[in-house]
Amino acid sequence: MLRLPAWTPGSYLLRDYVRNLEALTVHQGGDDGEALSVKVERIETSAWQVQLSAVHPVEVRYALLATELSVRACHLDADHGFLALAAVALQVEGERWTPHRLQLVLPEGWLPFVPLPLEADHGWYAETYDQLVDTPVEAGPHACHSFAVGGVPHRWVTWEDGSTGGRWLLDRFPSLLEDVAAVCGGCCRLMGEPMPAAPDYLFVLHLLDQGYGGLEHDRSSVLHYGRQALTRPDGYRKLLQLVAHEYLHQWNVRRLRPAELTPIDYNQAVIVPTLWFAEGVTSYLDQFLPLTVGLSTADQLFEDLGTEISRYRLTPGRQGGQTLRQSGQEAWVKLYRRDAYSDDSQISYYLKGAIVALCLDLALRRDGSCLVEVLRDLWRQLGRWGRGYSETTLVEAFTRRSSSLAEALPLWLESFLEPDLEACLASVGLQLNAVLSPDPFTGLRCKAEPNGLEVQRVQRHSPAQRAGLVVGDELIAIDGWRLRQPEHLAALLQPERPQSLTVNRRGSLRQLTLLSAPPAVDRWTLVPDPSAAPEALARRAAWLGLIPC
Ligand SMILES: [Zn+2]
Repeated sequence: MLRLPAWTPGSYLLRDYVRNLEALTVHQGGDDGEALSVKVERIETSAWQVQLSAVHPVEVRYALLATELSVRACHLDADHGFLALAAVALQVEGERWTPHRLQLVLPEGWLPFVPLPLEADHGWYAETYDQLVDTPVEAGPHACHSFAVGGVPHRWVTWEDGSTGGRWLLDRFPSLLEDVAAVCGGCCRLMGEPMPAAPDYLFVLHLLDQGYGGLEHDRSSVLHYGRQALTRPDGYRKLLQLVAHEYLHQWNVRRLRPAELTPIDYNQAVIVPTLWFAEGVTSYLDQFLPLTVGLSTADQLFEDLGTEISRYRLTPGRQGGQTLRQSGQEAWVKLYRRDAYSDDSQISYYLKGAIVALCLDLALRRDGSCLVEVLRDLWRQLGRWGRGYSETTLVEAFTRRSSSLAEALPLWLESFLEPDLEACLASVGLQLNAVLSPDPFTGLRCKAEPNGLEVQRVQRHSPAQRAGLVVGDELIAIDGWRLRQPEHLAALLQPERPQSLTVNRRGSLRQLTLLSAPPAVDRWTLVPDPSAAPEALARRAAWLGLIPC
């Protein structure tokens, strides 16, 4: 039987890669050396039964459409090629745990970048099918840069989309490779290891006009990043945080894995209640990495944490939508399939996971420990030996370091009860300041479209929903004044006074009455408390260095 994976680990959505596969044929060599066509029966959307009559070499041929520019799909054009092998390599029944070899035929002038050992005449060697499909393949006329971390060889290759000649990134950020090496070294120190877990490591960066994303692998990661983002003040720092995030996954999630992913079932959705630990803890720690290696400042970390806390608090789905455990369990149908209503019904396990990780770190510090120590415990006790963890294992690991978490952590995971952020932050001499929006609150978000102003989001239980607005409505006028831009609406809103809205819904005009509320909190800033006690300041210094108090 031959089978193509339905998804790729690290990205919890059934992608049905088979939709890009065409013209599959199977041939087998006969006794006289002539290849004969073999009967192939399709038994599932992604699986074929092949009738083989004798033990002779088999050749399977098929074509793949490679047009999706993503870290988890295939893209091929005149400038480069990228293969996510989970979308390419068929699994042969019974051969999952046997060695596989990969060979490539490339256009002249192109180089292959493959994070597998290369054998002289046989191509790249993967110990198992799992290792093969954990391999991203990049190819093109790109420059490759090498550096070492803890004595382990690392390669960095950038495909720059567009006519930049492949030098835009390094011309603009000449210290990039040095900084990446420093961040990688910081990740090893965080894990308490002298070197990375991988025997060698490849970074593939697709530098696009716009875009953001990453996918972790055992000995590589693929990053998508936007040139436009790099022109912003925090753009370079965010790139280094993305590097840290994917590199930390080398331990947390690739080798220290949820039990449900040990081993991985490539054929169906796998419910993982602990994704908050895999992604939330990694998202929390990645923000510290540039700081711990001297590439960003404490104020920049406070800015980043303030932005995260604001995003979290402004997501209504955190109360009554999903618990943290449910967020992981429902990743396949919710986080990866967001729509205009998602913020009311979901909370990302990346986002809430990072907030809970912050509170866990600060709670552990009150007992003389810290989050990094729990991560190291789990790595040494489970990850290093390929043993998976359950939610119970995680709660026990935290409780061993701080008994107060035995009661609190399960509640944060299974209910809508939240940690007391203000109290946690006060323990390191920080405070949250609420900043009010300048505009009255409607719960409405709209965007200027060629036809007019289109409603993109209506928050549940908000003035906009009470007015009867729905996503897709075209806002034409308020109190008889024509609306063309979101700013027009903001300028004409009057809180707590009924206002008449003229709306076009599916071709028919209607009048609605909007009663805006007074301005609400727009964001929170995280700032040092000028009256913080010396003990809090000492705790803050240790926290910023990710070391125990
Ligand atoms: Zn991640």
